[in-house]
Amino acid sequence: MLRQALLLLARSSGVKDLVTRMPVGSGIVNRYVPGERIADVVAAAAGLIADGRLATIDFLGEDTLDEDQAEATVTAYLALLEALAAEGLARSAEVSVKLSAIGQALPEIGPKLSLENARRITKAARAVGTTVTLDMEDHTTTDQTLETLRELRKDYPETGAVVQAYLRRTEDDCRALAFEGSRVRLCKGAYNEPETVAFADRHDVDRSYVRCLKVLMAGEGYPMVATHDPRMIRIAGALATRYGRSAGSYEYQMLYGIRGDEQKRLAASGERMRVYIPFGEEWYGYLMRRLAERPSNLTFFLRSLVSSR
Ligand SMILES: Cc1cc2nc3c(=O)[nH]c(=O)nc-3n(C[C@H](O)[C@H](O)[C@H](O)COP(=O)(O)OP(=O)(O)OC[C@H]3O[C@@H](n4cnc5c(N)ncnc54)[C@H](O)[C@@H]3O)c2cc1C
Repeated sequence: MLRQALLLLARSSGVKDLVTRMPVGSGIVNRYVPGERIADVVAAAAGLIADGRLATIDFLGEDTLDEDQAEATVTAYLALLEALAAEGLARSAEVSVKLSAIGQALPEIGPKLSLENARRITKAARAVGTTVTLDMEDHTTTDQTLETLRELRKDYPETGAVVQAYLRRTEDDCRALAFEGSRVRLCKGAYNEPETVAFADRHDVDRSYVRCLKVLMAGEGYPMVATHDPRMIRIAGALATRYGRSAGSYEYQMLYGIRGDEQKRLAASGERMRVYIPFGEEWYGYLMRRLAERPSNLTFFLRSLVSSR
């Protein structure tokens, strides 16, 4: 119930106005988002890379409503990639892109515009020696996002995508994506989805996550195990051993600010550990999705809200 309420609030503009008056530097926001500027996120990535972790950086900007906003997002990614290259970080830091932020939802032109924009970012990423992963959003966009992936991979086969274990279709998607060179990030899924398309019970989501992990680990691709769940991490390790995978033929991924000690432990044990770091002014929807996963953070959040007024 609380999770659904928070996910609905993630789309409420009234609450958004109230919450976004909080400075990004305030406790709960800063825990998940290192800042609004490129310099903030590059500094955060440099810190993680210095202690053996990798990064994937997301410029926060969903629900892009016009071409100018989409263009501004592309410009931000191009500037970010240049900054990463200038700091010598591009080999260890890639970027994650939401197609909705670069125009996917615009009427009629959306699919073509977001593909072209994604192509520009992917080309710039290749030029500095790094890669792009397409984030996955709500289920109404899954087919379009996978179609965009297919198109992009014709020129940039290093491009990766995300699949969400809570969707009933995802085990089949994993089968279709488990081929050589295919980078697939498996997560549980963060949106409020109807039962017709998604498992509602978290045990069913976990069971689906394990089935998808098996398909990806047994396959020829490069699995990216995106979870903070200690059980899923243990199972991923066991499956990697069972299927004879060497360290470096798959990786773990977690979000910035969550289970930092476990991130360090995995990196220190020789595993590839990548941290997803979001930045930018549009942090509201992202923050609400994180709170929905961890309602115990709500008290902390409400306290930050009251004390910042
Ligand atoms: C790298 C990465 C990329 C992602 N990309 C996408 C995407 O493109 N699309 C999408 O829909 N979702 C994405 N997600 C989010 C994902 O779908 C889940 O919503 C999120 O990861 C929480 O699920 P979990 O697997 O960690 O398991 P959960 O069952 O939510 O949590 C398992 C355990 O992890 C710990 N934990 C989880 N969340 C928190 C928290 N906020 N604070 C503290 N501890 C916590 C707790 O110990 C908890 O018991 C991504 C996640 C990661 C890590």
